Amino acid sequence: VKERGRSDFRFYQRQMNIGLLSRMKIDHAMRQALEHQEFRLHYQPLVDLETQQVYGAEALLRWHDPELGEVSPAKFIPIAEETGLIIALGQWVMHTAIAQAAAWNKDGRQLRISVNVSALQFQQANFVDSLANALDDAHLDPGFIELELTESILIRDIEETLKKLNAIAKLGVKMAVDDFGTGYSSLSYLKRFPINKLKIDRSFVMNLTKDESDVAIVTAIISLAHALKLKVIAEGVETEEQKQLLSSLHCNEIQGYLISRPLHPQDFETQFLTNV
Ligand code: C2E
Ligand code: CA
Ligand code: CA
Ligand code: CA
Repeated sequence: VKERGRSDFRFYQRQMNIGLLSRMKIDHAMRQALEHQEFRLHYQPLVDLETQQVYGAEALLRWHDPELGEVSPAKFIPIAEETGLIIALGQWVMHTAIAQAAAWNKDGRQLRISVNVSALQFQQANFVDSLANALDDAHLDPGFIELELTESILIRDIEETLKKLNAIAKLGVKMAVDDFGTGYSSLSYLKRFPINKLKIDRSFVMNLTKDESDVAIVTAIISLAHALKLKVIAEGVETEEQKQLLSSLHCNEIQGYLISRPLHPQDFETQFLTNV
């Protein structure tokens, strides 16, 4: 028993070291990448189910490291949050997405760009000011930007959060609750916060056409949203059946591979912004 305990410990320690080593390696590579402008934003279309039109796009971070290859944001963002690099990276995302929205909208187009915000970024005392400055710099109508905030961001320090959200709403920037239903789901905040939209997480959409529990959850989220006068978007829509079901449940908007994967801005432009 003793022997095994020790080898388990060694195994655990080795795992831990590998974890730490690769985290340090990734952190170092990310700092280099930020400095050398190697991060990219890709854009995934958002579709209004009533009009069937692409009304906007979600900006999603992409990083190709020469050594590590394509690294998923699901992997590098948690590390950037741990090391604090997310603050600089989030700033870059905000500026780049706002500049892209300004470029795409300069001839009177009205495309809304959704931007993911991380907890540490939102907690910065100057978050609202830097958002306002970025909008000013780009001469962008703030209504063309929507921030995607997770529930975990919102429930942290309710009074402080409420102040910030009110300031953001006052700028005219829209706000959505991302991954709705997967976090702490304290519903009481919904009536106090000036948010515009709930985003149903992909985990509820994935098996929607096969799982009655998911139908029940999605139905409940949609009716809750509508009762509170909020819009609802479902992410991760991959099939026509899912789209039809969501449509019949009066979901307002969808996003997913059925319409398109996240695209390089040039490809997004040719596929969705040129009227042929
Ligand atoms: P998220 O905010 O929930 O974004 C949706 C994720 O689902 C994206 O993964 C998107 O590519 C993927 N997706 C969209 N449609 C489908 C579909 O039909 N099927 C499947 N299987 N997947 C679909 P991605 O780009 O890998 O991003 C993962 C997560 O990383 C995001 O989840 C978000 O939490 C985070 N993230 C991405 N970009 C940023 C960013 O700029 N800032 C911050 N703070 N987080 C970001
Ligand atoms: Ca999101
Ligand atoms: Ca998310
Ligand atoms: Ca999600």
